[in-house]
Amino acid sequence: MKRKKIVIVGAGPGGLTAGMILAHRGLDVTIVEKQNRVGGRNAELKVGDFSFDTGPTFLHQKFTLDEVFQEAGAKADDYLDFVLLDPMTKLTWGDLTLETTNDLDRMEANIEQAFPGHGSGYRRFMADHAKKLAAIYPCLQRPYHELKAFASTTLMKALPYVATGKSVVDVLENYFQDDRLKLAFTFQAKYLGMSPWRCPALFSILSFIEYRYGIYHTQGGLCKISEAMAQVFTKNGGTLLLNAPVKEVRWTGNRATGVLLESGELLDCDDVVMNADYAQAATKLLNGHSKTEAEMKKKKFSCSTFMLYLGLDTIYKDEPHHHIIFADDYRLNVQDIQGERIVSDDMSVYVRNSSITDPHVAPPGQSGLYILVPTINARHGYDWDAHKQEYRDKVLDRIEQKTGMKDLRSHIIAERILTPNDWRDEGDVFMGATFNLAHTLDQMLYLRPHNRMQGVENVYLVGGGTHPGSGLPTIYESGRLSCNLLCESHNIPHTRIDLAPQFV
Ligand SMILES: Cc1cc2nc3c(=O)[nH]c(=O)nc-3n(C[C@H](O)[C@H](O)[C@H](O)COP(=O)(O)OP(=O)(O)OC[C@H]3O[C@@H](n4cnc5c(N)ncnc54)[C@H](O)[C@@H]3O)c2cc1C
Repeated sequence: MKRKKIVIVGAGPGGLTAGMILAHRGLDVTIVEKQNRVGGRNAELKVGDFSFDTGPTFLHQKFTLDEVFQEAGAKADDYLDFVLLDPMTKLTWGDLTLETTNDLDRMEANIEQAFPGHGSGYRRFMADHAKKLAAIYPCLQRPYHELKAFASTTLMKALPYVATGKSVVDVLENYFQDDRLKLAFTFQAKYLGMSPWRCPALFSILSFIEYRYGIYHTQGGLCKISEAMAQVFTKNGGTLLLNAPVKEVRWTGNRATGVLLESGELLDCDDVVMNADYAQAATKLLNGHSKTEAEMKKKKFSCSTFMLYLGLDTIYKDEPHHHIIFADDYRLNVQDIQGERIVSDDMSVYVRNSSITDPHVAPPGQSGLYILVPTINARHGYDWDAHKQEYRDKVLDRIEQKTGMKDLRSHIIAERILTPNDWRDEGDVFMGATFNLAHTLDQMLYLRPHNRMQGVENVYLVGGGTHPGSGLPTIYESGRLSCNLLCESHNIPHTRIDLAPQFV
């Protein structure tokens, strides 16, 4: 039988996951990527001699990554050097700090030290959320492209946790009185680009997953994950075309028949897998088969990020790998970001100092500092070109004040800034909303763009804009779900590998 030809648009984590699995199942797969490197937002970013992760720096749920590698006939540990970070993250509010760990006893002790009397609330949170995750996790492992999925027993079991109308902060009211400690268990909403006061209650599982199963680093940076996936993909017989921007998908009726490159080359195919940013692709690449830009803008989108990548002529050995410094008025900062108009001077700052763990990202004796500031997306056209240097200085002031890096400026020898407009213009991210469509209840499960795209016959979505959502593990899951739907449409058998701990 003739092998089915699949073209995947984009070599981000979603496209690479789908590519390596489909190639392993014997399909004839080509990935076309606009940039000269794989990884998308998870690519390496070079600044002089320094190597940075463009985006993701926290790897949760390593078992999901292990699963998709195994489904592609490979073992993640053969390609990647994983480090379980302990301590995980330092959290700072004014003069108060909390060091987090996935060791239950030490975490309880750290909480007792910073927030006396709150250790028991932590234990209750962990026990309750083990049950909550067990109910919700199976819902993330199945597609929601048909309404009948709503009648499934898995969703029925999860419904009491999903359809509450509450936010993650509301959930934490049950465990802690101190607002800062509630934040330690809700700031993870920012991983979805959302406000903890608006992020649906079900997502309190994010902090549980982090505090129970830990956070991993991969030596060389998390960009090495995408590079490893590309190796597995080509080893499995896939074809990777870099520097190959796609102009549009070609159709006969509602059936995609090929992908036209900007170069004029036409790649015929049986199915298309779309990994380019969902809203960008739907409005620009689908040739009238989806929404217009004006329609798309009516949807809710995540925040964006202001990024500084600094090469330093020193290593701050006493500074943690991950450090989050909360805005003095965090709630106001989050409201400003949600309002999509005000760039807060009282900002939250995330600093990642991976050179204390990883010798591969900077020359000897030097280090790379990755700084992320959540901020407004580009919906209302803030003039970043006019303000980015001034904002950079404010961010550096805050880091010098709040960390041990008092002389940070004097050690900077290489630097790159990325603003929300750069995400939009250079990264092809719709409105620069780095975490895709917002994860509100009206944009989730069946109500999120489906893994098999609605309204057309044979286009499959992968990445943060489809189900289950943004974040590496969920994106890997989207790749696998879409592969399975595609294979089912061609009667290609597949088996699912589950390595998740027993909570499922
Ligand atoms: C700053 C930042 C920090 C993040 N931190 C974390 C974290 O710590 N942990 C976590 O789990 N998640 C994190 N995320 C979220 C998420 O994991 C990443 O954004 C992830 O890379 C998204 O993967 P994707 O497959 O959806 O798309 P992308 O990575 O955006 O890949 C899409 C690909 O499509 C390509 N493309 C676009 N248009 C075309 C075209 N016309 N032709 C050909 N190719 C095209 C792009 O060049 C790109 O390579 C972070 C995101 C950002 C931005």
